[in-house]
Amino acid sequence: MELTAKISNYYENLRKKNIETHEKRVEEIYKKIPEVREIDGLIRDIALRASIEQIKNPNQDKSIEQSEKIYTLKLKKMEFLEKEGYPRDYLEEIYTCKDCLDTGINEDNEKCHCLKKLIVSELYDMSSISYMLDKENFDKFDLNVFSEKVYEEFNMSPRENMKNILAISKSFINNFDEKNDVNLLLWGPTGQGKTFLLNCIASELIKKDIIVIYQTAYEILKTIEDRKFKNIDDDKYNLYFESDLLIVDDLGIELVNSFTTSEIFNIINTRLLRGKKTLISTNLSPKELSETYTDRVFSRVFQKFVPIRFFGPDLRWQ
Ligand SMILES: [Zn+2]
Repeated sequence: MELTAKISNYYENLRKKNIETHEKRVEEIYKKIPEVREIDGLIRDIALRASIEQIKNPNQDKSIEQSEKIYTLKLKKMEFLEKEGYPRDYLEEIYTCKDCLDTGINEDNEKCHCLKKLIVSELYDMSSISYMLDKENFDKFDLNVFSEKVYEEFNMSPRENMKNILAISKSFINNFDEKNDVNLLLWGPTGQGKTFLLNCIASELIKKDIIVIYQTAYEILKTIEDRKFKNIDDDKYNLYFESDLLIVDDLGIELVNSFTTSEIFNIINTRLLRGKKTLISTNLSPKELSETYTDRVFSRVFQKFVPIRFFGPDLRWQ
């Protein structure tokens, strides 16, 4: 099923379920506490009479008087409920999310946190991130695996470098909601912990209900091609543009000859223009990138990224 259809289904069922529960409660209470039924009748009566009055004498405003009466009756109703051991709000209308009244859209006309959470959890199924979230997060990040020895020409040990990178990553996470135009380009040879770090950042942000799309460059190209030729996966494609954070893992040289390569840069560029953040990891150096992707769009895109260099012995062989 399409994501949008899935989501509207979800809220529809939620509302249906809550309305049913509410109706059952009313029925239950009416049987147990007949006084509450009487009070509800009185409230309905007042409201009905008020609207008739309103039609007859539109200039006579009695709404304050009426709402006072209704308020007193509601208080009485709550007292009855309390006396029988029910919570005072037992007969209120039920909403699972009070911030959007189970519509998914909040007061500011934006996606509610509950909708964001729903999208993210649906996405776990379609992206490669699902199983990594538990295994790869900052709690599992062990600085000790990085060598303490100054590495080659770098004047710094990989561990020290990684400490700096961790600090940058955490500040990226903590300042994520600020419109500060900070995008990161993680570069360096394979086996330096780039993907692990990306997963840590992703899992931290997902915990804050931020919509994170994590894909390898290859997966993104696959989606773009599927969309072009098979007309599928539009939801995923749209989320490349609309997600709060897009993580492009493993942007490599093999993509250069693909006719859809420029589409990836179109996505990243559009995100930049909309002030949405992107993280990229690659085995290529900024110099290699600029030689590989010579298009002007590419160079403009890369200028907007803070390069973060990874170096050290390959961790995979340790
Ligand atoms: Zn909500």
